Amino acid sequence: MEKADILIRGCAVLPMDGRSLIEDGAIAIKNGRIIFVGKSTSAEGISAEEKIDAKGKVAMPGLVNCHTHVSMTLFRGLAEDKPLDVWLRETIWPLEARLNCEDIYVGALLGCLEMLKSGTTCFADMYFHEDMVARAVFESGLRGVLAEGIIEAGNKEQGGKTLNRSVNFAKNFSGYANGRITAMLAPHAAYSCSPELLRKVKDKASELGIGVHTHLAESANLFMEFEKKYGCSEVEFLNNLGFFEGHVLAAHCINLSDNDRHVLAESGVNVVYVPVANMKLGLGAARIKELVELGVNVALGTDGAASNNTLDMFETVNVGALLQKLTYLDSRVLSAYEVLRMATLNGAKALGLDTSIGSLEVGKKADITMVDFSKPHLKPLHDVCAALVYSARGSDVDTVIVDGKILMENRQVKTLDEQAVIEKAERHAAELLARKP
Ligand SMILES: [Zn+2]
Repeated sequence: MEKADILIRGCAVLPMDGRSLIEDGAIAIKNGRIIFVGKSTSAEGISAEEKIDAKGKVAMPGLVNCHTHVSMTLFRGLAEDKPLDVWLRETIWPLEARLNCEDIYVGALLGCLEMLKSGTTCFADMYFHEDMVARAVFESGLRGVLAEGIIEAGNKEQGGKTLNRSVNFAKNFSGYANGRITAMLAPHAAYSCSPELLRKVKDKASELGIGVHTHLAESANLFMEFEKKYGCSEVEFLNNLGFFEGHVLAAHCINLSDNDRHVLAESGVNVVYVPVANMKLGLGAARIKELVELGVNVALGTDGAASNNTLDMFETVNVGALLQKLTYLDSRVLSAYEVLRMATLNGAKALGLDTSIGSLEVGKKADITMVDFSKPHLKPLHDVCAALVYSARGSDVDTVIVDGKILMENRQVKTLDEQAVIEKAERHAAELLARKP
């Protein structure tokens, strides 16, 4: 076999491609891609530039966070324990009105650092000044599916302007950072964009051949207001507009009728389950079992750090599994393996990236998260999947590789100056709060 750039040996490998756990496994990487996954004994003939002895660790596909607003890390800990409408109106929107480009960049850096340190290698984001998020993704080495938000909220001019910005962002940044950045269009929600605008978004997305990222069926109150205004559910309304014809990534999907679920299944909409933020804002639990039974691709997301309050996908995996068991009062619902698949391969599929990431397979890009299993809360080890879901935390992640590049090793981040990012974020958050509206 050709000489590899990196050879990881001695760890257990959880490929998430249908194969079971490989004990004493090895992974070889060349030019950013995986060229070998298997037993260490079968990798003995592989020479490499760099060898990683990974005994006591588990290698898995990097986690995919399918819904966040990464710059909102600056709002972490503000507006706690408030209902969604008050939370938005009194704190989040006034603060967002004061945000400048640099705040968004610094918030995104902090978010990228947090994700990197907790094993997330790819995330889907929507916000304003998304070029600043792209800058942070570029510097951190992560992979991102980014979108400039489109919002109208009764102001047609703003709707048109934000659509243009979103389209320009997509044109300028698709394929940026050696292909690590791809783009979508991001209409905020069916209730904050007019039908005309949503139709335009859909047409533009199909013209550009990209997906659409939106919030869907998130709040019972907004849902009722919507029914009053249009006489149908959000899902039916969007379906009537033809909005679901292309690739759609829909976050939340809490308030759905049986018919809505069938529509989502038939349209191939990718649902992002956001358990922690949904619980924290008291919005409810998405009924994932029904969606999965209908064949819907369900992925996982954290949402922004103002409503979670972390971007730790290990926490989301854990809470996501527990919440489903509670919702159905049935411990068999959503197994450890299924929820890990949602956080990896299903996430990649939801972002249109499953041919290149989401599992550890020869030919795929090398996006790998390695978890250190030497900790007391992970011993004794009887079931690796169960340990990853029910016992592991983001802080157990030891090494992260994206696009074949080692971004963190032994918890040392190589691409970002951790202390400098934290200090900058603290300074920007303080300045933001002091800034006059
Ligand atoms: Zn959101």
